[in-house]
This record gives sequence, C-alpha cells and structure tokens, in this order.
Amino acid sequence: MSIFRGRGTPTVTSHFIDGGWTDRSGPTFEVRNPFDDALVAEAAAGSTADMRAAIDAASAAFPAWADLAPGARQQLFLRAADIVDRRHEELVQLMALEGGASRAFSSFQIRLSSAMLRQAASWAYLPAGDVLRSDAPGRMAMVTRKPLGVVAGFTPWNGAFYLAWRTFLLPMAFGNTTVIKPSELAPLSAGLIHAEILQEAGFPPGSFNVVTNAPGDAPALADLFFDSPAVRCINFTGSDKTARILGERAGRALKRLVLELGGFNPVVILEDADIEESIRAVTFGAFLHQGQVCMNSRKVYVARAAHDEFVAGLSNRVRALKSGDPTDPDVVIGPLITDRAVEQIDERVRDAVDRGATLVTGGRFDGRVYEPTILAHVPADAICTTGSDETFGPLLVIEAFDDLDVALRDAQNTPYGLSASIMTADRARGWDIAERFDAGIVHVNAPTMASEAALPVGGVKDSGWGRSGHYAIEDFTEIRLMTVSSEPGRYPF
Ligand code: ADP
Repeated sequence: MSIFRGRGTPTVTSHFIDGGWTDRSGPTFEVRNPFDDALVAEAAAGSTADMRAAIDAASAAFPAWADLAPGARQQLFLRAADIVDRRHEELVQLMALEGGASRAFSSFQIRLSSAMLRQAASWAYLPAGDVLRSDAPGRMAMVTRKPLGVVAGFTPWNGAFYLAWRTFLLPMAFGNTTVIKPSELAPLSAGLIHAEILQEAGFPPGSFNVVTNAPGDAPALADLFFDSPAVRCINFTGSDKTARILGERAGRALKRLVLELGGFNPVVILEDADIEESIRAVTFGAFLHQGQVCMNSRKVYVARAAHDEFVAGLSNRVRALKSGDPTDPDVVIGPLITDRAVEQIDERVRDAVDRGATLVTGGRFDGRVYEPTILAHVPADAICTTGSDETFGPLLVIEAFDDLDVALRDAQNTPYGLSASIMTADRARGWDIAERFDAGIVHVNAPTMASEAALPVGGVKDSGWGRSGHYAIEDFTEIRLMTVSSEPGRYPF
C-alpha cells in the first residue's frame, strides 16, 4: 500500500534507507494541508543516527551502482518513468493536499518528471571520456569521467515532485548514489513518494535514501553532509539565504556545492509583440503555482504603445483564474504554503500601494489563498520592484517603457540571473536583446517558466550555479587523466 492514502487518511511515514523503510516508532512532526490545515502525514523526525545510516548505505552502494552496466541503469530509469505515468492521478492528489498545487501545476511536473527519467535513461550511454593527443613520443593520454561518490540533496517544497527528481536523478544518472533531505513542508512529494517509485522499479538498495526531518533539525542533519568524507557533493535547491549558510560550510569542508536558487525573471514586451500571446505567456509565467516557483515572472516591461491593451487583457485573464481548493480540477490559484508567505506578499503589496503604486487587480486574500495581484506605477523604492529580494508569490509588477535601454538596465538591476523573456514579432531583434541578458535562461516568445526536461536550467549570479539536463555531467562527475607511455621518457636531469 502506498504511503499516501488520499484525503482524510493521514499517514505515518518513515525514512527510506538501504532499500527499505525504517520502523515508525520514533518521533514525528506534522505535515498539514496548506489549504485547510488538515493533517496529511505524521512524518518521521530524523536524527543524526538516521542520517548517518543513510550516508553509510549510500556509500556502501556506490561501487556497484557506479559500475552498473549502462543498459541495466537505463532499464531502471525507464521503469520508474512508467510508474510515474501510471500513478498520475494519485500524484496529482498528493501534490494538491500536501503542497497546494493545482492540477495544471502537478500535471506539468509529472510530465516533466517522466520525461526527465526517460532522458536520464539515455545519459547512461554518454561517452565516458576522451582520448587526447600528447606531445610526448609514444604516449597515449585519455580522460575518463568518474562519478563523485555520494551526492546529498536538499529537495524543496514548491515544485516538490519534479524538483526532487532533478535533485537526485541527475547525480544518479551519472553513477553517484544519493541521500536526500526533503523540505519539512512537503516530505512526501519531495522524496518519500520517489522512494516508493524507485523501490518498485527495482533500484538497488542504498542507491537512493531519504531522511525526513522536523523543522529546526535541518542544520544538525546537514552538518553530516559536510562532515562525512563519503559525501562528495551537495545539491541544493532553495533560497539564497540558506545557500549562503551552506556555502560557508562547504568552503570549510571543501565540498562541491551545486545551487539552484531564486530569480527575478523579467519579461520585456516590445511594441510589435503578439499581445494575445504575451498575455497568455505572462499569465502562465507569473501565476503558475501562485508564483511560488523560482522561474515565475516577477516584472513585465511593456512598450508604452502596447501597454494599455496588454494591461487590460492581462487583468481580465488573471481575474478569470479560479482560486480555492486545488483538489478542484478547475482551480488554478491554490493556497500559499504558509501564513508567513501570505503575510510577506500582503506586506509587499501594501508597501507598494502606500508608496503610490496602482493596484490593477488582486490584493486580497481568503485564508492562505492570495488573489493573483498586478501592480502598476510602482515607485522604484518599493520592495517588490527592487529585484534584490525575491517576492515568492502571486504578485506581478508591470511597467511601461519608452526607452528599451533603460528598461533593460532596470531589468538587470538585480542580483539574480535565472530566467528572462522577450516577446516580439521580430525574432532577430529578440535574439539581439537576449544576448544582452545576464541570465542562465533567456526565451524569445515564451514564458520565463518554459521548462523542458532535456534543456538545461540554472542561473548565474545569486541564482546559483550548476545546470540540469545532460550538462549536469559537469557537476556530478570528475575527470581522471590517465596516460600510457610506450617509449622511454626524456628528462631534464
Ligand atoms: P524555503 O524558504 O524555500 O523553504 P530554505 O532555503 O529556507 O527554502 O530551505 C530549504 C532547505 O534548507 C530545507 O530543506 C531546510 O530544512 C534547509 N535549511 C534551512 N536552514 C538551514 C540551515 N541553517 N542549515 C541547513 N539546512 C537548512
């Protein structure tokens, strides 16, 4: 029976270590539905002993997993992809009840997840190295790619199901074993459900381990990632605030750290853009999952000639989005994850309005469901428009521009550099503008959220470093130089 039993049937979960579930007798913490506070699960509050056991299991499983024939690894990933597809409806329910995800968002994640598993199946066959030319007579040189060892992962609560796969699947595809520590806010959809799927698919014991933790216990458990010699890399998806703490620890322990952090994600709409298409792209880009994804658009710069038509059309479309309980398949805007998240959005909306901004639509909330909100004429000193602190919710700022250079300068005046979009009928001009963006991802005529499993996602500047897709081979392997000489060497002494 699945650890997830559906609405009204809270479950007690345990850790997944060395291919099996631990006993359920230890301390637990509550996981509640962000929409109605119903109890979803009593999750195991992991101890340092649990985490140590998980790291030991991953370490013991590493040599065999690293040596597994590519065809065998491929089969496992393909089987897991089929299981994800088969469990689609149950996963939609889980993400709604635990994370407040609408059907649109959970289905988006499920499709991306099984697509990424199928991509990962092919990565098992990526070349294992290169043969290089050497200046030394009779010397053959080659570099071989080797997995690192154990990769530890922090999986987030927001795009929990897909982002968890992205956190551990990429290292596993390249021969590493993993231990993950899901967010306290979504331990089932950010890790435990993956353990069930991998167990059913037949992944070897220890190749994948999950330890869940109560709020407040994260630092002590994370310390083990840095202190354990077996853990060679930490893959973190979360806030830049926590990343800075982890970065200091990684520096002291000399551990490789891969970071996928927040973004500001501007959209620039030129006067020749298809306005209907821009409205659809911005509605999706800004309000998917209530604006709680790192790639959501936060600010739109629209050419003055197109401004009024765009704002009128966008606010009509946004007002028509149904809000409420995300288990209703028609609901697009579900709850924010915590009361604090609601307070933060509301504070920022009030701050902007107090400084003279125009509230185009939204600005109210019912429980944790905050209306999708659009602000215009926002003064430069309002918190939500400075671009220096990510506003993680359904709040979009729109600004008309007369001078594209000024708009582009403002759009880049942010420490983040994750995603950006340009909407224009002139693709060559769009391309030129894209080249000027300092961001890990720039789309012309697509939303800032235009994710695909095979395409690399990652940021520059304070949005982190590291890339998904097959480029992750750079993050999760190292190369070894090996030479074989068939002639005596020439030495200077
Ligand atoms: P968010 O605010 O989006 O939940 P955070 O960056 O605060 O993101 O947290 C992401 C992950 O980092 C969670 O798994 C949390 O347990 C962990 N975490 C938070 N603070 C610390 C810390 N001081 N040391 C180690 N891990 C932490």
